[in-house]
Amino acid sequence: MITTYHRPQTLEEALTLLTQPNTVPLGGGTLLTQPTTDSIQAVDLQALGLDSLTKKGNDLEIGATCTLQSLLENENCPETLKTAIKLEAPINIRNSATVAGTLVASDGRSPFATALLAMDTKIEKAIFDNSKIEYQISNIGEYLPLRPTNLITKIILPLNTKFTFEFVSRTPADKPIICAAVTQWGSGRTRLALGGYGKSPILAMDGTEDEGLEAAARNAYHEAMDEWASAEYRMEIAAVLARRCKDTL
Ligand SMILES: Cc1cc2nc3c(=O)[nH]c(=O)nc-3n(C[C@H](O)[C@H](O)[C@H](O)COP(=O)(O)OP(=O)(O)OC[C@H]3O[C@@H](n4cnc5c(N)ncnc54)[C@H](O)[C@@H]3O)c2cc1C
Repeated sequence: MITTYHRPQTLEEALTLLTQPNTVPLGGGTLLTQPTTDSIQAVDLQALGLDSLTKKGNDLEIGATCTLQSLLENENCPETLKTAIKLEAPINIRNSATVAGTLVASDGRSPFATALLAMDTKIEKAIFDNSKIEYQISNIGEYLPLRPTNLITKIILPLNTKFTFEFVSRTPADKPIICAAVTQWGSGRTRLALGGYGKSPILAMDGTEDEGLEAAARNAYHEAMDEWASAEYRMEIAAVLARRCKDTL
């Protein structure tokens, strides 16, 4: 339960507030405003101007408080990423939920986090160090397993890639039981991420070419059993989805 609400006007003010105990950033609030027994102070980020979407060279820089819907509607958003965003949440939630809040709260079933993992997205965080704001950039592969509590200010997507996304779900609009996302760079570098299971999406392959995608997909899900599907099913389907991704690159 949110017991204290702050709306700082500057990043410095926000970072100062966030040094207090039980104090967390508030993005769209779709998760944070759900009833819980914990008392928290929320630091609303909406006045900080962190909602810009800018193409810089080969990158798309997405401010932390951009909503999923504004990213979906942006002319530079890759078409197949739009599919993953639509599966992440229905339109009413997409209009409130922010990209950073979604990433922080994501689990292994998140199509959005799976897509960002395949794209080797960079995460920019702001840190207060000796009263000075410092920015740190990490790869999403380092960020997701640890989920440090620092304030995310930006997410940086590479645009000079081919990106494909395939999924299987119970209904066309449901979160996938299995999804595969593949990114390929001009050099041939190919990255495969799998989602639909567990606490975080999995990086199944990051190779210099696309050989071995299917085997990597199968191996990555050999223990992926839960109430939604058996590990055998996920292994088979992950390989099929990886092949479809490869065929559409
Ligand atoms: C009724 C309902 C129930 C839901 N239940 C769940 C659920 O149980 N589990 C789940 O994963 N999703 C759940 N969701 C989905 C939730 O809407 C998404 O995770 C959403 O995309 C979160 O984005 P947000 O911007 O609203 O985040 P918020 O609710 O504002 O914040 C989510 C988390 O991200 C942190 N955060 C936000 N912005 C930043 C930032 N810039 N830097 C660092 N940290 C930040 C917050 O402190 C918080 O921990 C639910 C949605 C609804 C409507």
